[in-house]
Amino acid sequence: MNNYYAMNVIPFPATLDYSKQSIELPGTRRPGQTGHYRNAIWPDTTPPDVPLKNLVDAFHSGLAHSYNDPFLGERPIISRNPLTFANKFVWQTYAEVDVRRRAVGSAVEHFFRSGKCAPGVEGLETVGLWSGNRPEWQIVDLACMAYGKVSVSLYDTFGPDSVEYILKHAEVPIVFASSAHVAALLSVSAKCPALKIIVTFDELQEETRQALNTWGADRGVEIMTLKEVEALGKEKPLDIITPTPDQVATICYTSGTTSLPKGVVITHSQAVAGGLGAFHYDKMNKTSVLLSYLPLAHIYERLGEYGILALGGRIGYFSGDPLRLLEDAQILKPTIFLSVPRVLNRIYLAALPVMSAPGVKGALLRKAVEVKMKQLHETGINTHALWDRLVFGKIAGALGGRVTFLSSGSAPINTKVMDFLKIAFSCYVAEGYGMTENCAICTITLPGDPTASGTIGPPQQPCEVKLVDVPAMGYTAEDKPNPRGELCMRGPVRFSRYYRDEKNTREAIDGEGWLHTGDVGEIDSQGRFKIIDRVKNIMKLAQGEYVALEKVENTYSTCPIVAQIFVHGDSLQDHVLAVVVPDPDALAATAKRAGVNEPGRTAKDFVADKRVVRQVLSDMTKFAKQHGLKGFETVKGVHLSLEPFTSDNGTLTATLKLKRKAAYEMYKDILDGMYAAAPARL
Ligand code: AMP
Repeated sequence: MNNYYAMNVIPFPATLDYSKQSIELPGTRRPGQTGHYRNAIWPDTTPPDVPLKNLVDAFHSGLAHSYNDPFLGERPIISRNPLTFANKFVWQTYAEVDVRRRAVGSAVEHFFRSGKCAPGVEGLETVGLWSGNRPEWQIVDLACMAYGKVSVSLYDTFGPDSVEYILKHAEVPIVFASSAHVAALLSVSAKCPALKIIVTFDELQEETRQALNTWGADRGVEIMTLKEVEALGKEKPLDIITPTPDQVATICYTSGTTSLPKGVVITHSQAVAGGLGAFHYDKMNKTSVLLSYLPLAHIYERLGEYGILALGGRIGYFSGDPLRLLEDAQILKPTIFLSVPRVLNRIYLAALPVMSAPGVKGALLRKAVEVKMKQLHETGINTHALWDRLVFGKIAGALGGRVTFLSSGSAPINTKVMDFLKIAFSCYVAEGYGMTENCAICTITLPGDPTASGTIGPPQQPCEVKLVDVPAMGYTAEDKPNPRGELCMRGPVRFSRYYRDEKNTREAIDGEGWLHTGDVGEIDSQGRFKIIDRVKNIMKLAQGEYVALEKVENTYSTCPIVAQIFVHGDSLQDHVLAVVVPDPDALAATAKRAGVNEPGRTAKDFVADKRVVRQVLSDMTKFAKQHGLKGFETVKGVHLSLEPFTSDNGTLTATLKLKRKAAYEMYKDILDGMYAAAPARL
């Protein structure tokens, strides 16, 4: 065993004052900006004084908590054709993972010591990770931490161009990947001279192995399996190389919606400050179980997993197919569900038809929602002895029925959806706001706050936040009723720099250490922030009105017909248009209402039928009005498409944010044609 330090969460005080969630530091107000705000409960932004100084300490804390207890789990595959998984998770313990990370780390250290792998220009020893979420991903990351290596994560969905760019930029000599990516790695290897070793997580068939070896030899790249790497490390074990707090832990490439990926450099102390900041909750401990399905290459999931492992909890990896997510959840029964609006909106939308259904079932749900919603808004309490048992237990059961902490982050979420999730899951449902550049830690809503939905809450413990005027967009610290401006933050979670990119670093971090996020926020009288706009993603219509396209998309995202939406504006026009990928059930129902219900008609016929398009537009217009969109924000023309926006077709980033330029290119002719048919009337 060991005598490592075991970290626990820092609980909330027994009572929370929702009227004063941030404090403004006296004497910090200056012209053109607000004062500096901090968390009112924990106004000191320095990390708590605990002996947890780097990510290696974080894993050792998990070992101290749960040495022989389950740590990383997955559902074994029982058949490949058709793909079938066992109805259980099989686990590796903390102690077993300790052995494996030492073996992998020792082997990688030998590769660098022997000169097989070379450090980059700055002396960083980088290690690429390219696969979907799986236990091996975490084991290799733990190995990197423990042996002074810098992990460079690649989204599973990345195409060869992004992979080539990143491998070149970070001069990566060794990549651990799922077997599906080996061929792609070999094909870009000629343009990535640093690349010397590819390690597959999966075992290879002998024939495949030989073919890859020949190809690799041609390129000067060695192909190995993880098993071989571990065997090598076990033969020649090395001691852990404890990192200094300022040592670089990882470079996370952000999947920019507009520009080339930027390498966000995160040190051990920044990642640990992020983990410790997230520890200011009372819903996590060594019994916590996290369902891992958001991309591990993104900092949100990564930090979530660091948090769980420091507490000695369990991480169950989903089976890789979003369509099986609920099945995975029902088997794993997670207690922690980190999520994003895209997933949560679907849960909400699935409940909508029941809510409007005739008969007892619909009536019961409507009554339950009415009672709990009233209680939530009046008291902040989101549990109810009767309705949780009768109605909401079933909805919560979709995720296994044990969730105690559910969070939405990475994009704005609709207030109605958030309130619904609170009453449906009857636990701490939070909206967090952060970005890769601050380890996904910036603000988060408090539990039990009756009116938190629609806000992103106060600054988290390690963060200081201020709003700076954006004169071009008319936002100022003097705005009434609430000060508004670009949200800037600083604190120990803020990243150091973009790797080999001084220009972007200088633009993002100013001389006083503030990170300029590019998001426009406001702070309300209770000290909660709200994201209201983006400094960049805003466009001006011909009549001079500004439209925040993402905000408009977010509003429409809960319209029943909308599975996905892209709202497009043109500064020469006076209105906005939309491409909508319709929800299949809602499309069929809409077609029926539009009188298009001849037998044999398919979705393809519906989207091409003018009557259906007119009906959709009319429904969306009503919806826009009900949800407070202004006239110029309401889409005036819609194109229905059955081709979803995906990262495969290049219209979504790896974190599933819309790439506006690519989406426009895809529908350019149609959208331009719609504008030409109904030009601006100025
Ligand atoms: P990324 O670095 O890929 O995580 O992207 C960070 C960006 O996501 C932020 O700058 C925001 O624009 C957006 N974002 C994250 N969380 C939220 C939220 N709760 N509400 C609105 N936007 C968010």
